[in-house]
Amino acid sequence: MKAKNKIVRLRQNNRFMSTAKIAKQVGVTRQYAREVLLKNNLETNPPKPKRVVYCKVCREITTDRYGLHDGECRFRWNRIRLTCSFCKVPFYRSRKRVMQGYKLKLKNVYCTQSCYQTYRKQKTNGNRQRFNPEMGTKNQQDGIQHLYTRV
Ligand SMILES: [Zn+2]
Ligand SMILES: [Zn+2]
Repeated sequence: MKAKNKIVRLRQNNRFMSTAKIAKQVGVTRQYAREVLLKNNLETNPPKPKRVVYCKVCREITTDRYGLHDGECRFRWNRIRLTCSFCKVPFYRSRKRVMQGYKLKLKNVYCTQSCYQTYRKQKTNGNRQRFNPEMGTKNQQDGIQHLYTRV
């Protein structure tokens, strides 16, 4: 095979191979390899392979710059499972909002506005009402709605 064809083939099969490496492999000068590539409209300055990272959710390899796979991994990363400080019902909140809470040094999280308000009311009344399981169910529903509407 002609050196010319070898150069072309190497480039076509190795998108990230440097021109210098191609030249070395074919046994021609870098200048010559470059000329051949240019004549054939091929890349002479190939991009570096993307830095590979491990997904923050599933720990598999990804080239995503945020280190998250599209789809489920990103979804799971952006939703944090919390437990309401008042009704103890688990709910999900966006990572962004949770981080805002951390910055504000908030100790308690509430699944819904109503949980927060009920907690405040109870605190001011000094009325230590026992947790009502019926209310928990209602709040849980609100919390789920919250997940879809507010985040
Ligand atoms: Zn992943
Ligand atoms: Zn709650």
